[in-house]
Amino acid sequence: MSAAAAQQIDTTARRLSAAIAAATVSGRMWLYSNYHCNLACAYCLTESAPDAPARAMAADRLRNLARDARDLGFTALGVTGGEPFLRPELPELLSDMAEVLPLVVLTNGTLFSRRLLDRLAPLAGQAVALQISLDRPDPASNDLLRAPDNFRKVVQAIPHLVERGLEVRIATTLLAEDAGELARLCDLHRSLGVTDEHHIVRPVVRRGRAETGDMGVTARPTDLEPEFTITIDGAFWSPFGPTVAGGVLDVDLLITRITDPLHRAVDRFLDLAEQRPAGNDGVLNIR
Ligand code: SF4
Repeated sequence: MSAAAAQQIDTTARRLSAAIAAATVSGRMWLYSNYHCNLACAYCLTESAPDAPARAMAADRLRNLARDARDLGFTALGVTGGEPFLRPELPELLSDMAEVLPLVVLTNGTLFSRRLLDRLAPLAGQAVALQISLDRPDPASNDLLRAPDNFRKVVQAIPHLVERGLEVRIATTLLAEDAGELARLCDLHRSLGVTDEHHIVRPVVRRGRAETGDMGVTARPTDLEPEFTITIDGAFWSPFGPTVAGGVLDVDLLITRITDPLHRAVDRFLDLAEQRPAGNDGVLNIR
């Protein structure tokens, strides 16, 4: 690397660290590992489905991005999709990435066979959290917008993960009319060994399949925390940016399609974050 390139990276790293310290941007960098999924939920942001194109980032690209993120001063990683666990190499890939930065991986929690659970067990000693979707406290209502048997698989898998010492978080995506079921859902996640601090609740966001299906809340850019996000298509303002509606990628929150070298995309992200009006915080609790 030339001295000039090293200097540019150092300048970006200083800017990023200052922005994270000031809470202008999140310290977490998100990575879309793939876009396909074994489910096809009615509110899916990315129109993921079993027959959706995988559009996966290569494993070595993900490893390199993790290292570049650390070198620039990001403090954590998020891995999402699609369903990341459709990637056969995911447990080992997560382990490699967690050696670089602490990470959370988002999953629908339906693919945890005994074999996969055993392959995940070594992650118990690493800085990895599994964030599993669970929306409602009973099978009929939970499975309505997700898939048949979804509730049973998730509720069965969580205690096995907890037993193996893995950190499990539960992510609940709610329509406004379902908020009344939250207390029962909290009783359920506690009974599964997941504490309140590891329960994340957010509204259905009106993007992707939710937009086509006329559901959820409209999120303005100011409602979305600046969380630098990389997909195979480029860099985005937030993990809620690279959504797909009607088979077309949304580009309203695209920062740049060029993500190599990473520091240039991060510079552009920081330029945009610094232009954000002070005090214009989001109100929808979308994280
Ligand atoms: S919401 Fe998640 S689990 Fe459901 S189809 Fe989309 S990626 Fe898959």
